[in-house]
Amino acid sequence: MSKLPTLLVHAGAEHPQGAVVGPIHRSANYLQDGAATYAGVRYLRLSNSPQQRALHVKLAAIEGAESALSFASGMAAISTSLLALLSKGQHLLIQRNVYGGTRTFLEDLQRWGIEHTEVDATQPETWPSALRPETAVFYVEAVSNPLMEVPDLPAVLAFCREHDLRSVIDNTFLSPLQFRPIEHGFDLVAHSATKYLAGHSDLVAGSIAGSAALVQRVLRQQSHLGGSLDPEACYLLDRGLKTLHLRVPWQAASALRLARFLSSHPAVERVRYPGLEGDPNHPRTRLFSGCGGMLSFSLRGSAEGLLSRLRVPLNAASLGGVESLVVRPARSSHLGMDPAERDRIGITDRLVRVSVGVEDPDDLLADFEQALG
Ligand code: PLP
Repeated sequence: MSKLPTLLVHAGAEHPQGAVVGPIHRSANYLQDGAATYAGVRYLRLSNSPQQRALHVKLAAIEGAESALSFASGMAAISTSLLALLSKGQHLLIQRNVYGGTRTFLEDLQRWGIEHTEVDATQPETWPSALRPETAVFYVEAVSNPLMEVPDLPAVLAFCREHDLRSVIDNTFLSPLQFRPIEHGFDLVAHSATKYLAGHSDLVAGSIAGSAALVQRVLRQQSHLGGSLDPEACYLLDRGLKTLHLRVPWQAASALRLARFLSSHPAVERVRYPGLEGDPNHPRTRLFSGCGGMLSFSLRGSAEGLLSRLRVPLNAASLGGVESLVVRPARSSHLGMDPAERDRIGITDRLVRVSVGVEDPDDLLADFEQALG
């Protein structure tokens, strides 16, 4: 089997008419070739165009999974998968403080009779009391957004085996380069491919990977909900994937340097980066081969002027692109949350989240130094 960088460049690639880079097939539909079922009809919404298929081969190969599927966004991947795995009357366990969009979707799911319970994913002894006879799924993030919490992943897997639950993990923050959940026994891995997989802040996409049977079940749901990926975005995602192994280690190394620098700065109260040896999440990173390019920190004083004083990172939502970004989650992703609840879980007005890009780390550190004053 080829190694990951080789798969990122070559897996699934076809070279029609000798082209090194394949074409973008704009066609929505394809000539019928005697399909016996609806799923065999060749149509973009059914995710079976040559371009989508080639991308799925690559996504499965880099996850070490039997099968994979692309989506029109990370939220399309997550919502479609959960709808495929859960039925009315069922219940799921979910790590507290996951990405806001996922959390809001789960609140909406209650209208369809699917309930959830938030658990502290770092404390396995608290999970049995949240379990119900109808619990069917345990959903976690490899590193949570924006508090950088790492679940006790071996315990999640053991708990799922013991209670016959499906394990689903959002691995957006690490990418398959630093953590491959399927190889450790997770049933389904999801990504906002908008972030590291694509890597250039110029498209929105999602992906899942898992066993052929499970991915098939999600594909059936996707073909009804319709969140499949456009050919242009398929092309850009495939292009971004080719350099994932060049970008992520650089971003992770810069993030560690920045985390160390911020930890020793008098204006900074607390840094959250699981790669720091003193971080409470560090002991739970054993399955990872790096801790990604995301970190957050809280200032002792107001974060009001900091973002406007920074010159290298841009103040914008999203993450995982080549340009460094900074946001205050309390003023962006968590604006809709009750302020007292936000403060309680640590998403205060003084919390700043950084997505470290591929700029020179010396420039980045010097910029934070001048901006912190
Ligand atoms: N999962 C995580 C961890 C995210 O950070 C995001 C977006 O920020 C999503 C999922 C949703 O992805 P998308 O914006 O591609 O729908």
